[in-house]
Amino acid sequence: MVAMTLNAVPDWKFSSAEGKANYEAACRRYPAQCIVDLAALKDNMAQLVNVVGGPNSGTAVMGIVKADAYGHGLIPAALAALAGGATWLGAAQSHEALLLRKAGIGPDRCHILTWVYNGTAVPFDELIANDIDVSVGSLAGIDAVAAAARRLDRPARVHVKVDSGFGRNGFTPQGFEAALNKLVPLAKEGVLHIVGQWSHLAVADSPDVPEFVASTDRQIESFKDFTRRMEQAGIAPEIRHLANTAATLSRPEIHFELTRPGIGLYGYEPDPAMGTPSSYRLKPAMTFQAQLGTVKDVEAGHGISYGRTYLTPDNTSTAIVPVGYADGIHRSASGFDMQGAEHVQKNGGPVRVMTVDGPKLMRVSGRVCMDQFILDLHGSAAELGVHEGDTVELFGPGRGEAFAEPTADDWAKAAGTISYEIFTCLRNRIPRLYLNASKVLDGRDLAKLDPASLL
Ligand SMILES: *Cc1c(COP(=O)(O)O)cnc(C)c1O
Repeated sequence: MVAMTLNAVPDWKFSSAEGKANYEAACRRYPAQCIVDLAALKDNMAQLVNVVGGPNSGTAVMGIVKADAYGHGLIPAALAALAGGATWLGAAQSHEALLLRKAGIGPDRCHILTWVYNGTAVPFDELIANDIDVSVGSLAGIDAVAAAARRLDRPARVHVKVDSGFGRNGFTPQGFEAALNKLVPLAKEGVLHIVGQWSHLAVADSPDVPEFVASTDRQIESFKDFTRRMEQAGIAPEIRHLANTAATLSRPEIHFELTRPGIGLYGYEPDPAMGTPSSYRLKPAMTFQAQLGTVKDVEAGHGISYGRTYLTPDNTSTAIVPVGYADGIHRSASGFDMQGAEHVQKNGGPVRVMTVDGPKLMRVSGRVCMDQFILDLHGSAAELGVHEGDTVELFGPGRGEAFAEPTADDWAKAAGTISYEIFTCLRNRIPRLYLNASKVLDGRDLAKLDPASLL
């Protein structure tokens, strides 16, 4: 008898027989899949554009697609962001900025900004030749960009990065005089085109903490001081940008000419302290699902996984979820029980499991291994109707309490991190599959995607 498998994720709506075949092929290839809804990405971007006042407000929106679009897939996410009204894309690493242009996203469609490099080994020539804007935040960086622009005999479009208090990249107020001394003659000579002035906020996601609000206010004042100094030096920036998702959602006074949301595009608020995604009309775009491996009965007191940190409290069944820390499941999301004095009670990462009585939230029991982790089903698998091959959900859009559906925020809580790290750690051996591609993208853009990835 073939056991009927239960499914803890929605029945995916495939666009075609090919989409269904792609899904089945991905499930054969790997026992876990990331399903990314391109319609959600597009709608999230449209909502962020709405938040800054719409397409004609004078504030443009840059979709931040660094780190493979926070693990969602660089090109599909970038195209969905453009479909939603983004007119800029941002990628920290120049490699990814170049991949966007190589995929055929030309300067006629959007500006692209990149900002992480060391001034000695970055492909500035290629960046300038591909109409990619670059950040300058160090004297060595200015020299290197200028040298490349001279070689190409073409002005480099630069955004001057200022350190308004974040303490990462950019010129400090003290160091800015030296930067201006280099920038002004290069701008006058036409080697550099000073497009922007920008900076990054340290704690914009804590609107409830007065101390943090005050430090953000100080960053804004500092940012404006830098603008005044650029104006006085005769190189006023054409556009200024400071707002990440948090400030895009909560600080309209600093939208300036451009905002740079990242996590909001993927449907999450930057910090659960700010509320839920739905309070900002955002919808998490990714569902992370897996098919169960071995399901079996074990006796009470059975040690589960390395270190025997979890001992089954009762006779029970266990199920293997076939992804582990080599897939990006944080080992810190391991779950321990309360047996014995040394054992700390700690909730492991949550997994939505479908049973004959409806969905139940199970948790990682014991340590996460390299390629798998174990769930204590807290009951008999036969009675619960749980079988090898069932599809379980690690996280999804979070359809409310009644659905018992975890989100990446819940995994972040279990792992002691933030949703950003949950997404970006998911390895590329896990297939990324895309829903609603043909609804969101025109034929020209659809052709830029791997056809095997479309559902
Ligand atoms: C990542 C990043 C952003 C986007 O931040 P979110 O919190 O994801 O909105 C914006 N600007 C810079 C410089 C970044 O590195």
